[in-house]
Amino acid sequence: MLTEFISAEQCANCRLCCNFHRSSAWESPSLHPELADRLRQRGIPLKKREERPGCAAETFELHFHSQNPEEPALCPLLGSEGCILPRKERPFECLIWPLRLMFSSEGIPSIALYNAGCPAVLLPKDREKLIQFAAGPLLPTLRRYAASFPSVIRPFHPNYTIIGELNSK
Ligand code: SF4
Repeated sequence: MLTEFISAEQCANCRLCCNFHRSSAWESPSLHPELADRLRQRGIPLKKREERPGCAAETFELHFHSQNPEEPALCPLLGSEGCILPRKERPFECLIWPLRLMFSSEGIPSIALYNAGCPAVLLPKDREKLIQFAAGPLLPTLRRYAASFPSVIRPFHPNYTIIGELNSK
């Protein structure tokens, strides 16, 4: 999560973004190949991301026991006190939550904001500050990461609001 906007305490009480359902398994974080190698060496089970044909990224394997789309599955790295990875070892998508890199419905690489219930962006003033941060100080980091790992850009999903183009200026 973006610690500038979400406190560790707020995150620990919510865990929305570390708790998936069969229907939202596509949201599990994409792992940069170097991070995937390190996690594999530690015995963490990984699998290819499936939401886009030909996507080169891997993600965590989630364990479901039924075909129920609402069956939940926790990220295997979620411990009783939050993520067990040190912050500098976490997937990029976890670090920038509730933002994501995503193609717009017109296919333009963009910055997207989760719009389906993250408590950090429920208040309009917090949401506006976050949008300004994404379009300002954070933008070079987002661009650098997308250039080094294009698979991180997700197909458009309506649970996200596009807040700006990634390469507009
Ligand atoms: S890697 Fe850590 S922060 Fe990311 S989804 Fe898993 S538990 Fe949450």
